[in-house]
Amino acid sequence: MSYQYECNYQFEELLGQELFIDHKGQGWARCPFCKSNKFAFNTKKQVWYCHYCKENGHILKLAMLLRCSQFAKGVEKCLTEI
Ligand SMILES: [Zn+2]
Repeated sequence: MSYQYECNYQFEELLGQELFIDHKGQGWARCPFCKSNKFAFNTKKQVWYCHYCKENGHILKLAMLLRCSQFAKGVEKCLTEI
């Protein structure tokens, strides 16, 4: 059994900086946690991984870490759009 969902979170929006994203949806940015430039993410799979501090996860986890106060609202919005 599987299910799919989409939500409105975008890496561009969460990271709030200029990003490099290639045609496959693979991107690089400055890590919001350790400030290295080794933060890799995939806009199609909606996952991310920092090669320096080893933080990683789904874009929803990134949203939670960066925007705790807005997270509950965001999840609620995602769920209503399923
Ligand atoms: Zn990092």
